Amino acid sequence: MDFNEIVNQYKDKMLEDLKGLLSIESVRGESKPDAPVGDGPKEALMYMLSLGERDGMDTKVVDNLAGHIELGSGEDLFGILGHVDVVPAGTGWDTDPYEPVIKDDVIYARGVQDDKGPTIAAYYAMKILNDLKVPLKQRVRLIIGTDEESDWLCTDAYFKKEEMPNFGFAPDAEFPVIHGEKGITSFDLVFESDTKAYGDVVLNRFTSGERYNMVPESATANITVDDADKLKQSFDAFLEEMKLTGDFIKNEDTVDLIVHGKSAHGSTPLEGKNAGLELLRFLKIISIDQRAFEFLSFYDHYIRDNFDGQQFKMDFKHEEMGETSVNTGIIRYDLNGKSYFGVNLRYPLGMDFKAAIDKLSKEVEAHKIAVENISDQVPHYVEKNSPLVKVLTDTYKNYVEDDTEPFTIGGGTYARVLENGVAYGAMFKDTKDTMHQANEQMPVDELVLATTIYLEALHKILVEEALVE
Ligand SMILES: [Zn+2]
Repeated sequence: MDFNEIVNQYKDKMLEDLKGLLSIESVRGESKPDAPVGDGPKEALMYMLSLGERDGMDTKVVDNLAGHIELGSGEDLFGILGHVDVVPAGTGWDTDPYEPVIKDDVIYARGVQDDKGPTIAAYYAMKILNDLKVPLKQRVRLIIGTDEESDWLCTDAYFKKEEMPNFGFAPDAEFPVIHGEKGITSFDLVFESDTKAYGDVVLNRFTSGERYNMVPESATANITVDDADKLKQSFDAFLEEMKLTGDFIKNEDTVDLIVHGKSAHGSTPLEGKNAGLELLRFLKIISIDQRAFEFLSFYDHYIRDNFDGQQFKMDFKHEEMGETSVNTGIIRYDLNGKSYFGVNLRYPLGMDFKAAIDKLSKEVEAHKIAVENISDQVPHYVEKNSPLVKVLTDTYKNYVEDDTEPFTIGGGTYARVLENGVAYGAMFKDTKDTMHQANEQMPVDELVLATTIYLEALHKILVEEALVE
């Protein structure tokens, strides 16, 4: 069967349906009893389900947060997981983000790449299979979420009530196949000391970072100091030696020390320069009040160069998934408020995070530190040589000349919701990644090609039973 030719016959209709979906401003909004994440996401969900009904497939809504379109019969279920909510448009657009336009064969609209275009591609693969009237040996479901960009309330609600597919993929990332994702945790190391702060140099406040999963690009220390000029001299020398930039600001009674770093995603802390860690490095080498000294000695033992988790005894390595990574995304110190390190740690398969964090909690008590606010998403992994990964990769390689092997990442994709699921497209190796950006775009050719790949993969799995041993 020439899947590419078949998909091309559907191109105009597919673009029309996609434009309808893109026209809905499905940003998370005010919660209402019948629209828990707002009217926009719900409208986009209902729109998708109406396509399924129009085309003669079974549909179901779950709590107005998620839903599915189902095709075929049989015991086994294959799942495709996409989402129709989008992040806010932001500024800098050349066109109206919710009035899709096609210019030079490229579609421009918020959500066209993340994740409405890929979701429509997967939908059309199902619709075409339905129209072909080939007998399917199992069921396939397009599961549609409406809260992927925020709290994943959609998939939480959905899988409380609905069955977990045997296998599946999420068209919400890139080709060929992402078959593993590190465990993602965050926790606070809270400093609880009643030591008094006094002396020639007193640290009043320290602020760095807003989010666990970002490397902070600036840090500020507010200090009361007797000899400000001497402090400035040391600070300037430090900046020069460390090849950093910063500012020294004299206020009425205090001074502010500011260090500039470089932002990066929390899964790749070494690609950035953590301004907070650098500024603490300076405070550690000057003589400072006793309370700050305690805070800094904890930093020295557990935080300073801890990019691989070694200082937490959480350094671990997996052959395919790589090493533990640590990002100290938030640092706060306050003489009168909460002082803590907000840590984002990502770990590969094989590490027992619960045991490790329990051990760490006991160990750091001696430093007047309490571990709080622990969240843990366990690693997600599907064998690289599993039939699922193989079928999807082979199908992709039928259409694209690309030696890239299936790979694993430190970030998280929607696929981790599926027990045996991987991320599969729809960005290609040379695709410009415009997700969450102004002028989000997807070439029409890529939409057609992704649909073709999904169609052939579904044909192999549902008709030729490629996953049945
Ligand atoms: Zn997405």
